[in-house]
Amino acid sequence: MKPTHICAACGALFTPLAHIPHQRYCSSKPCQLARRRTWQHERMRTDSDYRANQARAQATWRARHPDYWRRYRETHPACRDRNRMMQRERNARRSVGRVAKMDASPPFRPLASGFYLLCDALEASIAKMDAWTVYIAVLSAPGLHLRDCKERT
Ligand SMILES: [Zn+2]
Repeated sequence: MKPTHICAACGALFTPLAHIPHQRYCSSKPCQLARRRTWQHERMRTDSDYRANQARAQATWRARHPDYWRRYRETHPACRDRNRMMQRERNARRSVGRVAKMDASPPFRPLASGFYLLCDALEASIAKMDAWTVYIAVLSAPGLHLRDCKERT
């Protein structure tokens, strides 16, 4: 059978598979990868559920592989230096904002007993989500604990 279709990726003529009459990409591996990338790109652009799912999957993966980025930075110094520079810039911007609001950096303040809003940090980073209202009764605070340790020595 003579090829009847033009591949959307490589432009070569091809014959669609019998069960995919409207096939737009030839069966070569790079063209199938291109098809998949285009599909994902389109879903990310148009489907908020898909976007949320992808973000959740990535957050879960990051939580399960906490060492991945540390190792990546160790083996990719160029990236690391760039990130450090960007972080310095972010810090500088942030401290400018803080100076405008307060005259000094806030002193360390241990958590006080009281009502707090509690939510899953991974979920909250992805989507607006409901928070639990919880009451936290502080039994010991890090600042007090430190003083206790010093007194004992
Ligand atoms: Zn192709």
